[in-house]
Amino acid sequence: NFEILFAGRSNVGKSSVLKQITGKNVKVGKRPGVTLKPTHIRYSDLLLTDLPGFGFMSGVKDRKQDIVKDQIVRYIENNAERISLAVLVIDGATFLDIVQRWEERNEIPIDIEIFELFKELGIDTILAVNKTDKIGDGELDTTLDRICDKLEMLPPWKQWIDCVAPTCAKKGDLKSLKSLIRQRLHDVKRDDL
Ligand code: GDP
Repeated sequence: NFEILFAGRSNVGKSSVLKQITGKNVKVGKRPGVTLKPTHIRYSDLLLTDLPGFGFMSGVKDRKQDIVKDQIVRYIENNAERISLAVLVIDGATFLDIVQRWEERNEIPIDIEIFELFKELGIDTILAVNKTDKIGDGELDTTLDRICDKLEMLPPWKQWIDCVAPTCAKKGDLKSLKSLIRQRLHDVKRDDL
């Protein structure tokens, strides 16, 4: 089984990305922060695992957000050996501001923590930088450079083209993400996407 894990802060467009990839509506009646358990979606021979969104959720207490984060970390640790690939979805338009806010409080943003956890556990990871339509045309490259820098991938971002995929789920533009996933499947001689 080829399991692909999807992780991301709530509202980054993770459900939209999953919907574009599978054609399935994955967020049926899901209120942000309410679902603690990962959702599994079968797609062809693939198992896509949608982790609960983390971070700020309106109407959800801080305490609950910690519980969500702990659940996510536990799921990743307990299933690391089975997970073939992880996709961390971020909102390219707000990521740097959010990181700065956390750093000003001397805290490590959850996105970065999770990205590092994947690395520590040896899980192959693709960073999907979503909402590229909200980044000015002339600013896309510098924004991607700065995002990569925060994740300890030395700019220019193009050096990391095998693990960074700019996406715009709203417009259905997921070419680079799909092609990177296909590349991983091809490496294990699979043809699902
Ligand atoms: P999730 O909470 O991460 O699963 O995010 P959703 O898929 O529910 O999307 C959250 C909001 O972001 C929705 O209003 C989407 O329409 C919007 N959204 C998703 N992808 C994009 C994108 O590429 N660009 C823009 N501008 N909005 C997007």
